[in-house]
Amino acid sequence: MPDLTLQTHEGDGLPPATSADALSLTIEPLLDRHAPRPRRLSVTVIVAADFAAAVDEAYRVGGHDFGPFGAARLGGDVNGKTVPISADHASARVIIDANWWTRQSTADAQRAGLLAHELFHPRLDRLRVEAGSAEHLARTVHTPADGARWSVRNAVDELRCDLAADSVLKQMFTVQTPRGILPLPLGLLGSEDDNNYLGATLDAFDHLHDEWSSLLGQTLTGEQQSLVARQTGSLLTLLAHAEAEARSLDAPGAFAIPGIAEHPVGTLLHSTWQQICDAYDEYAGWQTVAASDTAIADAGQEAVLNLWRHFGF
Ligand SMILES: [Zn+2]
Repeated sequence: MPDLTLQTHEGDGLPPATSADALSLTIEPLLDRHAPRPRRLSVTVIVAADFAAAVDEAYRVGGHDFGPFGAARLGGDVNGKTVPISADHASARVIIDANWWTRQSTADAQRAGLLAHELFHPRLDRLRVEAGSAEHLARTVHTPADGARWSVRNAVDELRCDLAADSVLKQMFTVQTPRGILPLPLGLLGSEDDNNYLGATLDAFDHLHDEWSSLLGQTLTGEQQSLVARQTGSLLTLLAHAEAEARSLDAPGAFAIPGIAEHPVGTLLHSTWQQICDAYDEYAGWQTVAASDTAIADAGQEAVLNLWRHFGF
């Protein structure tokens, strides 16, 4: 990684003490360049000292029974969470972990990146409702096909939100590089503290390698199938973040990183991920988001079921 200094140019960028509300007001119009603004959407941003409790409260107010919320994920803790508050997705809460937020005081690009990502989730959800899409309303998971579909939808949404965040960062910040001053890409946000998703994906591959090796080709119990299904979902989400980081840096994708492509778990996932990305690229855009959602989920579901056939289910 080249030596980089993050700069916010005089007159743009942000004053250090910018509140989450003020930052959200700056970011929303920048998201308009990435996707249309829904006709009706109201989002409340909450920076919460007790992150988990605030998410649980939003679940309660929104009538969801997902709880209790935990921030831990394969690949690290999450610092933000978006919860729909009304069934029509016209109202949502974005909750940010105050412990994380206050640690970012000297690097507002981190805050802007997280907020842009989280603010794009409710926009995406509401755009779907306004387009008449029912794809994301199906929440029950009974069969492996349901589980595969759910994981693909989740992962593609993370990719979309990350690419939206990349677009916002590039509009707000610049970075000094050996090639001169460039718009700040998402992929450089975590580079100073090595806290990026490309690295986290490799760590997760290492973490699951032995377990997956021992399960491949075996007859799995129902419990083992559920475990592999959940782990696949987590890996697809990580790959989505890594994909966005790679694309933000003008690399072709996550598998252009040799460490990911050559890892045994990466080898197993490569064609699955490629098929999901191909579908995403083919159906990018917002004019026909309902049809796109279904087409991406159809292709992704097949790709994940094919992966699971290696595990015998
Ligand atoms: Zn997200």
